[in-house]
Amino acid sequence: MNLNLQEKIWLKNIDHRKICKKLGIDLSAFKRSGSNGDYIGRCPLPEHGDDKHPSFSINLDHPDKRGVWQCFVEGGGTFIHLVMRMLNLDYTAAKQWLLNETGLDSLDGPIPSHEIIKLLTAEIKQEDEIIIPLPRGMIQQDDEVLHYLTVHRKYSLPAANWMINTLSPSICSKGYYRDRIIIPLCHAINGRQITFQAFALDPTNPITPIDSPKSKLFPRGSPTSHTLFGIDSVNTNWTFIVEGVWDAMWLRWLGVPSIATLSSNVSETQKRAIIKRFVQIFVAFDGDFHLDFKNRGTTKGYKLCCQLSQFMKTINLYLPQDPDQVKSLELLRKFCKYGKKIILDK
Ligand SMILES: [Zn+2]
Repeated sequence: MNLNLQEKIWLKNIDHRKICKKLGIDLSAFKRSGSNGDYIGRCPLPEHGDDKHPSFSINLDHPDKRGVWQCFVEGGGTFIHLVMRMLNLDYTAAKQWLLNETGLDSLDGPIPSHEIIKLLTAEIKQEDEIIIPLPRGMIQQDDEVLHYLTVHRKYSLPAANWMINTLSPSICSKGYYRDRIIIPLCHAINGRQITFQAFALDPTNPITPIDSPKSKLFPRGSPTSHTLFGIDSVNTNWTFIVEGVWDAMWLRWLGVPSIATLSSNVSETQKRAIIKRFVQIFVAFDGDFHLDFKNRGTTKGYKLCCQLSQFMKTINLYLPQDPDQVKSLELLRKFCKYGKKIILDK
């Protein structure tokens, strides 16, 4: 069973000692051993009760191994697997039991951001990555980044504008995410960082033009449907809603409040966050105009507007170009027939 990022973070941060006690595992009878400080003792698994020699180990302290256990006879697993074995539950029931024991109904709730950053760093280290944090504004002096932005956008984007508003973006210098800009992504509702997006930074590589799927990578299991890029830095009660991070960055630079859903399939969490935060939205998804110019009612942007229209004023914009291709605020105003007045007024 592969754990997603949120599950990993949650499992690492629960009070394992307390849960062990609840499961009837008497850690006071265990000995500490090895460089990771594993607890070693008689196997507590139900059918292993006549264990005369220590044949069970569990780690409770190591940042990467906390909650991981091993029975020398039958193997081991995550802390959820331990609950399964001790209480004879299936995976889903064991996870739910553990959630309830840690005071949660689901994993939708807040996770401490320092733990997430620690975990992200650990994941990156596994793939031999080095992240170099960029000081605020430094990107303006960074030739490689500026060149990339200029070549790809065909205009120069004063990136410091968005750098200031996002949480410490960085450039990765080695390994899997090499030469990519790392952009942290936060939970749409509680604002805590839950994952990141890694943008290709090599303008000469034809495989990774900015709009190709390969130009943007997320860590495996990223809960991207729980994020809304830029929601933390919009301070109006209305906003543009676009698909991509670059779309949002670019529109924001033109002076228009913008957030990005990262997909044209907008999740329930994202919809909840939008309803909670805004009274009016302008939806401008990529390619709606090209694909469905003659049949506008079928576009994803239109559907989102319909779904949210009972909660707020919604306007679907059919831009003849993708939002990050619109070269000026004047052009944007021209395209946004209905949005014009609003944008001019605000
Ligand atoms: Zn055992």
